[in-house]
Amino acid sequence: MHTFEFVRPDSPAAAVTVAAQSKTAQQGAEVRFLAGGTTLLDLMKLNVETPAKLVDINRLPLDKVERTPDGGVKIGATVRNSDLAYHPVIQRDYAVLSQALLAGASAQLRNMATTAGNLLQRTRCMYFRDTAMPCNKREPGTGCPAIAGSNRTLAVLGTSEHCIATNPSDMNVAMAALEATVHVQGPKGTRAVSIGDFHLLPGGTPQRETVLEPGDLVTHVTLPPPIAGSNQVYLKLRDRASYEFALASAAVVITVAGGTMTRARVALGGVGTKPWRSPEAESALVGQIANATSFRHAADAAMRGATPQSENAFKIELAKRCLTHALHTAATS
Ligand SMILES: Cc1cc2nc3c(=O)[nH]c(=O)nc-3n(C[C@H](O)[C@H](O)[C@H](O)COP(=O)(O)OP(=O)(O)OC[C@H]3O[C@@H](n4cnc5c(N)ncnc54)[C@H](O)[C@@H]3O)c2cc1C
Ligand code: SF4
Repeated sequence: MHTFEFVRPDSPAAAVTVAAQSKTAQQGAEVRFLAGGTTLLDLMKLNVETPAKLVDINRLPLDKVERTPDGGVKIGATVRNSDLAYHPVIQRDYAVLSQALLAGASAQLRNMATTAGNLLQRTRCMYFRDTAMPCNKREPGTGCPAIAGSNRTLAVLGTSEHCIATNPSDMNVAMAALEATVHVQGPKGTRAVSIGDFHLLPGGTPQRETVLEPGDLVTHVTLPPPIAGSNQVYLKLRDRASYEFALASAAVVITVAGGTMTRARVALGGVGTKPWRSPEAESALVGQIANATSFRHAADAAMRGATPQSENAFKIELAKRCLTHALHTAATS
């Protein structure tokens, strides 16, 4: 691993000032915030990330889960994934988030991993993690070997001719279904970004993954007030039962009254280049009887427009079955 300077600011403002020295907050950043380190340190060992400065944010006062005045919840950036998953308010009111967190990684990793770090975790595309290979995301303009190569685990939604990497997070999928808002403190002040706008599609600039600018620190994430009477399910399908990323996953938050779905929020994981909220599936569900036919129509709608590669066409049907099953479980729970 290369050498780097390590700083430990005592306030968010001080952290922002140091990080603002970087020319970018995207791939190639000279300054990086260090949270749990479970993504960043791995990538530094692989020389995929080579920051000159690490800004340790673990001492900042960003580690609380609190109620907001509107009845929602505020989750600090450095709240550990395990603490969040087992928080009584999250387990009771935002069960889909607790389930998604517990479906990710391992108990040891969840004890280190943080809310903001999870939000910003990088793709597991093997070419991205191997500096001997070209990769548009790591080195813009060098090409995307995954398109003609090993792409079984990669995305079928939101891809471009420049990158087909999957957003690997489970937490992000639940956050998308819960309509989370990401709060950022930067050199120009604070701002709030809806989770749907936070991650970017690869397009022609796959090295740019989020809207973050130099110095931007994610301070917390808020969730709107819980939907009374909603049924929530996160279902993750993967090659082995634990310690594995999703091939396809579904987060659903539905409300059923008298057998009819009156509200639906649906997001998919493992298949999109960003956490994939599906308004198409949601519209197909609302007003329909909660049964196998309407679930399948919604799943078809969610995956319409999917673009398979040589090895991952199976994900389209897998994602449809994943969503159908998640909806069935939610409707009957
Ligand atoms: C073996 C293994 C298996 C895994 N399996 C899964 C899985 O099944 N599902 C899953 O979802 N995840 C999985 N993960 C990923 C894991 O969830 C992430 O590594 C973790 O959530 C990252 O959080 P962190 O706090 O360690 O981030 P860090 O590594 O500290 O940071 C990650 C990135 O976020 C930036 N960052 C951190 N905090 C902030 C902030 N407040 N503001 C701005 N930028 C910030 C850092 O600079 C860095 O670029 C796995 C990881 C490993 C190593
Ligand atoms: S899919 Fe994206 S991350 Fe993977 S090799 Fe292609 S450009 Fe790189």
